[in-house]
Amino acid sequence: MEKINVGDLPFELFISGEQIKSRLKVLANEITFNFQGEELILLGVLNGSFIVMADLVRQLDLAVRCEFIKISSYQGTQTTGKVKSLLGLSADLEGKNVLIVEDIVDTGISMNYLLSELSKHNPKRLSIVTLLFKKAAFQFNYSLDYVGFEIPDKFVVGYGLDYDGLGRNLPDLYQLSTT
Ligand code: 5GP
Repeated sequence: MEKINVGDLPFELFISGEQIKSRLKVLANEITFNFQGEELILLGVLNGSFIVMADLVRQLDLAVRCEFIKISSYQGTQTTGKVKSLLGLSADLEGKNVLIVEDIVDTGISMNYLLSELSKHNPKRLSIVTLLFKKAAFQFNYSLDYVGFEIPDKFVVGYGLDYDGLGRNLPDLYQLSTT
């Protein structure tokens, strides 16, 4: 088992870049089939989705537009916890097919926020693709249309995902080592 350090933590190889690419190709074929003859706006959620977005979009045989958005999270003045806001949305989504592109859905809080914000723009169809899904941590019951891999509730890095800003460039996916 290949082991590496990212920052101050040990990680072990979990899913190879080759496995990820072939899984993304399968998802891209499904998406191409489902949106045949229609235009699709891909909304990549920064920062983590930039590699998934690049791999996926090159496998789509459709008229696509690529946009990137970001969710910023900050502590509000109220006691209600974190306040979220959506940054970078410039496309007009009214009546359009929109596909949110995420690297990982964990508790689902971020995606839940995105779904509620983006649906205010009245898209024709609002769908989700995520490379990774931590099903055991998920707190909602909305459905994820395209899931690359269901993974255990363990911290992962690589393939766009970071630990403390590091590791996004790793070509494979690693999980936190417990040994
Ligand atoms: P949520 O809990 O709202 O579904 O996920 C929030 C965010 O936490 C994700 O978009 C991602 O940035 C981060 N996250 C959740 N699990 C992991 C993980 O295992 N590794 C990394 N690098 N980020 C994660």
